[in-house]
Amino acid sequence: MSYIRYKNNNLFVENVSVRRLVSKLSTPFYLYSESNIVENYKSFSNNFKKSKPLICFSVKANSNIQILKVLKKMGSGADVVSGGELLKAIKSGIQPSKIVFSGVGKTEEEIRLAIKRNILLINVESENEAILINKIAGNLKKKIAIGIRLNPDINAPTHKKISTGKAEDKFGLSKTSLISFCLNIKKLKNLRLKAISVHIGSQILSENPFKKTLKVLEEIINKTKINFKFVDLGGGFGIAYKKNDRKINLKNYSNLVEKFRQKYNCSIIFEPGRAIVGDAAILVAKVQYLKKGSNKTFAILNAGMNDFMRTALYDAVHNIIPVIKNGKKNNGPLEFVGPICETTCKFIKYNKYQRMNQSDYVAISDVGAYGASLSSNYNTKPLIAEIIINKSKARVIRKKQDIKSLLNQ
Ligand SMILES: *Cc1c(COP(=O)(O)O)cnc(C)c1O
Repeated sequence: MSYIRYKNNNLFVENVSVRRLVSKLSTPFYLYSESNIVENYKSFSNNFKKSKPLICFSVKANSNIQILKVLKKMGSGADVVSGGELLKAIKSGIQPSKIVFSGVGKTEEEIRLAIKRNILLINVESENEAILINKIAGNLKKKIAIGIRLNPDINAPTHKKISTGKAEDKFGLSKTSLISFCLNIKKLKNLRLKAISVHIGSQILSENPFKKTLKVLEEIINKTKINFKFVDLGGGFGIAYKKNDRKINLKNYSNLVEKFRQKYNCSIIFEPGRAIVGDAAILVAKVQYLKKGSNKTFAILNAGMNDFMRTALYDAVHNIIPVIKNGKKNNGPLEFVGPICETTCKFIKYNKYQRMNQSDYVAISDVGAYGASLSSNYNTKPLIAEIIINKSKARVIRKKQDIKSLLNQ
């Protein structure tokens, strides 16, 4: 299905040759395939089609408004974790009735915004947050639909920095706290408990943690006897970054979800981020310098951890592929690094790679999720451009940031 592939040893995104793009545009830049995003959305949606879930794209995975517009057209809602994301989702055209708001630290201002915009659900993560929402809702004379986020204490095998569903993680309420919260919620007169939500982590490649989570949810529903209108099962669906990553197979899980939905007569919500955009982009960069090290060669790219942080932050493995395959043998190990003055500003090391020259172009793969949205101005570098391809057309969806805007503060 990939729209990012080689034709005659030249890397293409849809019908556009990356080599031609770099002859016209300065690197580095993010390069997306719109069809890839659309296909990912469709395939996720098809997998769960019996349950007719509301799919709320997790905006933090990629918050470019043009990408949100593509997803809006597909019928997507949004899962947001800040007032800024909420405003952006609305600005992209996503209806507030398809927006859920998660996060452990929502401020008064963000809560007021969510209430005034009449979003579908505020997913509450603590008792004290519920008390504050109740108070603000009272001041605004409104009754507010909330979800309550469960921390199911499940160990999903993923990187420890992206696990969110273990007892030691800050997210949600434990089973016992959640049950007592549900039984006491009536005291908070301005809240309507409509949903239970859960999100156990990211880049999960096995169905098992999801299945276990369903069991915990059943237990809670049976104990509290609450008829939740919505059950929000979160995101976290992994993608294959490495050759040996086995792709998650969601068929079995989707059958369980459908059984669950029928049994408890609820509407299902999902919040996928990575699964929708992760494999739909590359980051195109130039080899600024080659440098001989003592036992390897460094290929120093003009893109760094400020542009793409996942490797430095999560030890994520992202392959780097040449824009033109030249078929020539290299001379020993090659490590791709970035320009930022940090040792962790490095990407990947290969023992074998094709022969590289200075000024060759390469692409960091699978950077559509937590790529541009996690980038920063570290080392006073401007944010890089984002470009989306649809068939033969390229469209700039973020211009490279003007360096001048960085100079006054
Ligand atoms: C980050 C996040 C998601 C999306 O996670 P993915 O792994 O990108 O699918 C969904 N829900 C919540 C609450 C999140 O914080």
